[in-house]
Amino acid sequence: MRTIDVAPLPLSELEPHLDEIAAHRLRDGVAAAQALLEGRVLWTVTPTDQAGAGPVETVAPLVGYARGLGVDARWLCLDAPAEFIALSGRLHSWIHGDIGDRGRLGDKERDLYEHTLASNAENVAGDICEGDIVILHDPATAGLARPLKAAGAVVVWRCHAGADLATADPEGVEDAQRAWAFLDRYLEDADYVIVSCEEYRPPFTEPEACAVIPPSINPDSPKNRVLDMDEAWSIARLAGIFDGEPPFDAFPFIRGDGRTDALRSAAAENGESGVMRAGGPVPLGARTITQVSRWDRLKGMRELAIAFAENLGALPDDAHLLLVGPRPGSGTAAARVLDEVVEAVELLPAAARSRIHIAAVPAQDREINALVVNAAQRVSSVVTQRSIVEAFGLTVAEAMWKKTPVVASGVGGIRTQVTDGVDGALVDPHDGAAWAQAVADLLLFPERAAEMGATAHESVRRSFLPDRHLLQVLDALAAALE
Ligand code: UDP
Repeated sequence: MRTIDVAPLPLSELEPHLDEIAAHRLRDGVAAAQALLEGRVLWTVTPTDQAGAGPVETVAPLVGYARGLGVDARWLCLDAPAEFIALSGRLHSWIHGDIGDRGRLGDKERDLYEHTLASNAENVAGDICEGDIVILHDPATAGLARPLKAAGAVVVWRCHAGADLATADPEGVEDAQRAWAFLDRYLEDADYVIVSCEEYRPPFTEPEACAVIPPSINPDSPKNRVLDMDEAWSIARLAGIFDGEPPFDAFPFIRGDGRTDALRSAAAENGESGVMRAGGPVPLGARTITQVSRWDRLKGMRELAIAFAENLGALPDDAHLLLVGPRPGSGTAAARVLDEVVEAVELLPAAARSRIHIAAVPAQDREINALVVNAAQRVSSVVTQRSIVEAFGLTVAEAMWKKTPVVASGVGGIRTQVTDGVDGALVDPHDGAAWAQAVADLLLFPERAAEMGATAHESVRRSFLPDRHLLQVLDALAAALE
């Protein structure tokens, strides 16, 4: 496993975002937790540390705040070959009820899974002491529960995936059941389970050993920190996503050392090495409807492009659709999904095609990638998230925090994030006309959109910042230690 360095974050940085009651609650809660964690190492294991995936976004600040409290918190990510990454991607999407991946979960896959995780466990087991706590994230790490428990740790498994099997397609339900059957034996060793959404609890969990804890966003991270509109436009233009010259030096806060070179050269390129994979940059003066996502069929990017094209007449003439995701590695499942989206757009009538823009943003430098996403979310007129399933949409919370009005699928955890008509709009993920109407209403009535954006910001402040999240995780750790 690899250790990821995380700088301590003082809670005092969070307090300006909280009202007095929340700040009090946080101080009291962490004081109690400090005693609980005294003398223990708090390990967090994620499948990857690459930008563009939810767990990475939430883990970094939580580990940072724990370190800021003086807890010995450490973040590890797996060392895994490409075949393992493909296998864990399959587990992840099958749990979501995705029927797109027709691969296998047989003995060969189990050997690969166990072999990879055994060598990762070996690499860290010697550093784990009796009573340490390990939080494993997502299906890729579940197989570490037994060896790390044997090393003396209390093991919590946190799953960011899931699907409501009561409403999923029957083939999807079968896939989900197969994925859970594959994981079941590893999870028997977990002392506690955390999921993001009530309806997406794994089938085998005991209610008393499982907590529902939605993630949070870090308001001061490069992804969410305030950018004024000049900064946001400069970054979005320098990345090549929007047309026009950056009004002033983009990234003035990132000093020298060539850190923006990869982005600058990708912005200037065409084809697979470029940022813009379709449609070129969004033209000046357009009102942009943006979705930011990983390239995963469950995010519904292809269906979104088609819904946009089929309902062009319901949208103002200057409405453009922008799809943004991280640049995928070649030959990966994400690269295939991106190709599928580009191909689907190429088949659309020219009138729609010329108003759809697809951007793949380099992701090696997490900070730069995050700033580009931040800028895109800010300069957009509407942010949409048309996921088919979603345990929690970080991208929804990120846009709401930025006061950009949101139109999202009313599925899974998104239903707890957005109150329809109050701080955003919820639509059926299979109803393109309803989606276009909800977007058009926001574009045509900017005052209403601004009001919704302001309410959304307050909703996130109340429910989806790290104070609530941190306290709930600390409660779950206390329950796991009982
Ligand atoms: N993201 C990013 N760069 C990209 C695309 C996505 O940093 O090019 C981030 C996005 O801003 C969000 C996370 O990846 O913070 C995705 O989390 P979400 O909960 O929306 O979906 P998940 O990937 O966990 O299914």
